[in-house]
Amino acid sequence: MKNFDWITPATSAEAVQSAAQAGRAFMGGGTDLLPLMKSGLREPTGVVSVARIPGMDRIELTVGGFSIGAGVTLATLCTHADVQRSLPAVADAARLAATPLVRNRATVGGNLCQRPRCWYFRHADYNCSKKGGEVCYAIEGENKFHAIFDNTTCNIVHPSNLAPAFWVHDGVIHVLGAKGERSIKLEDFWVRPEEDIRTEIALEAGELITAVSCRPLGSKSGSAFEEVNEKQSYDWGLVACAVRLSLDGDKAADARIVIGAVAPVPLRREAAEAVLNGKVPNEATAWAAADAAIAGATPLRDNAYKVTMLRACVKNAILAAAARARKS
Ligand SMILES: Cc1cc2nc3c(=O)[nH]c(=O)nc-3n(C[C@H](O)[C@H](O)[C@H](O)COP(=O)(O)OP(=O)(O)OC[C@H]3O[C@@H](n4cnc5c(N)ncnc54)[C@H](O)[C@@H]3O)c2cc1C
Repeated sequence: MKNFDWITPATSAEAVQSAAQAGRAFMGGGTDLLPLMKSGLREPTGVVSVARIPGMDRIELTVGGFSIGAGVTLATLCTHADVQRSLPAVADAARLAATPLVRNRATVGGNLCQRPRCWYFRHADYNCSKKGGEVCYAIEGENKFHAIFDNTTCNIVHPSNLAPAFWVHDGVIHVLGAKGERSIKLEDFWVRPEEDIRTEIALEAGELITAVSCRPLGSKSGSAFEEVNEKQSYDWGLVACAVRLSLDGDKAADARIVIGAVAPVPLRREAAEAVLNGKVPNEATAWAAADAAIAGATPLRDNAYKVTMLRACVKNAILAAAARARKS
């Protein structure tokens, strides 16, 4: 690892000012940044530590909904009583990520900005297209963990558990940069490889995520996040799904279904939502919505199993969200 300056700003404005110097990087818990630095994939000249900035570790209920500071750890998020009650998909997503050790360090801001786990991207010896090379090695190579949707240019899968969960709760990302503050809707935060293969997120250089705001559940509503992993712990999901729905009588209304770990960016499945809305959520309707969610999948040589797995994951997430809505 190359030498770097260690900077501990007292405020978010100071952090942005520090990061304005070219070559500096923000750090939350460092659980992704430091491995990237150790493997030479990132070589910042300075690391601006933001997790301990006062206020960045706060979860507040405001008029517009929940405001979750970018420095809140996944451990805090999944054990916070208000988050469990009003944003259950978010609490699930945080609880199912990684390991207790990682969750104690990993922050909300870092989770949304973490780089993909593709082994060709992470390996210094492969100059893949994401790193400026000409080839996506996963197309012909070892692709059992790669994308089953939108997989022509680059076959990474989006790794963040929080992304689909925040999305179903109408998440908005609040950002501070040299030009001031701006807010980005969750659905507008992701950059597809066809738009810019070198990045996955719509942050400009030196922009700091300060918080994420989310809409809490209303009455007769539930949400859930489900994933399927190869290992029970210390692993990323092979497929993931977040669902939020309300009940109008006994029928689903205003369903929101977002899948993760299956495409370069999280994907909202509006066709599946349309199948579910207006129907009683049960095994049969949940499977029918899951069928709509997997429609259009284009698995690679070694990952067709993910399509079957995703179908079951979507079904389970719908039934879990519906069960919570019935109890609310
Ligand atoms: C074994 C293991 C298993 C894992 N499994 C999962 C999993 O199942 N699901 C999952 O979602 N994740 C998983 N992770 C990833 C983990 O959740 C992320 O590494 C973590 O959330 C990143 O947060 P951090 O605060 O440590 O980020 P850092 O490593 O500090 O930063 C990551 C990136 O975000 C940028 N950044 C950090 N904070 C900000 C900010 N406020 N504003 C702008 N940019 C910022 C950094 O510059 C860097 O580019 C796993 C990690 C490990 C090691």
